[in-house]
Amino acid sequence: MRLIDGVHLVGGGDLGFGLSHRSDSHMYAIASDGEVALLDVGTGLDTDAVVRHLADDGLDPGRISRLIVTHYHPDHAGGLAAWRRLTGGSVHAGRDGAAAIAAGDEETTGLVAGRRAKLYPPDWRLEPCPVDVPLDDGWQLAIGRLRLRAIATPGHCRGHVSFLLTGAPVSVLFSGDAVFWGGAVVLQNVPDVSIPESAESLERLAALDFQGLLPGHLAISLSNGRRHVEAAVEHFRSLRLPPPLVP
Ligand SMILES: [Zn+2]
Repeated sequence: MRLIDGVHLVGGGDLGFGLSHRSDSHMYAIASDGEVALLDVGTGLDTDAVVRHLADDGLDPGRISRLIVTHYHPDHAGGLAAWRRLTGGSVHAGRDGAAAIAAGDEETTGLVAGRRAKLYPPDWRLEPCPVDVPLDDGWQLAIGRLRLRAIATPGHCRGHVSFLLTGAPVSVLFSGDAVFWGGAVVLQNVPDVSIPESAESLERLAALDFQGLLPGHLAISLSNGRRHVEAAVEHFRSLRLPPPLVP
C-alpha cells in the first residue's frame, strides 16, 4: 500500500491491517531512485505475503539493500535473519540492542515473555542475525533522494530508535513502539522498560518538525502527526502515564 511517494506499508498483522503474519508489526518500505529499504521486518514468518505486497506496489524485493529495525522485539526484528538471507540487505539496529539480535537472545529481545503472553507461535525460535550497522543517535542515511535520520528513543525497550524521513512529499516520523496514534504508549512489565527514558524520548520527538506519524502498530497519520507525540508528552509532564495502546 503506497502511503506517500516513497513510502509503502508492506506488512503488519493483528495489531495492524492484516497484511502478513498475525504477529508482525507494521513493515514499511522506503523507496527512491531504485533503492529500497525495509523499515521493521516483522517476524519473518510470512515473507511471501510481504514480497507480494512489494511486487503489487512495483517494488522489486531484489532491490532491498537495507534492513532497518526500530528495536529488537520479535514482532519488529525477529525476521532479520530470514530477510537478510532473502535479500542480502545489510542489517541496521540500535547499538544498545545489537548484541541481543546477533545472539538470538530470546530472553532479552522479549520473545520468552511474548510467547508466555501468547503473542507468538509457541514453537517459534529466534534466529541469530549479525548486525552490520549499529545505530547511534544522529546517524544518517540517503535512500535515493530521501534522507533518514536516527533518533535514539529508549524507554519502550533498550536500544529503541525512531527515524525521521525527509525529502518525501511530507516529512515522516517512524516511531516504532515509542509512541502511537492518540499519544498511546506501550510500557510493559519487562526488565528493560523505563518510564523516565520514555518521557525523555518523547520530549526529543516533540522537538522535531514532521507531518506524518508512522508507528509500529495500528492507526497511522499522514498529516498533523506531531499532535500524537504532543499528547503523550502532555501526559508525562502532568505526571500521568499516557494511555496504553491496547487498553
Ligand atoms: Zn516493541
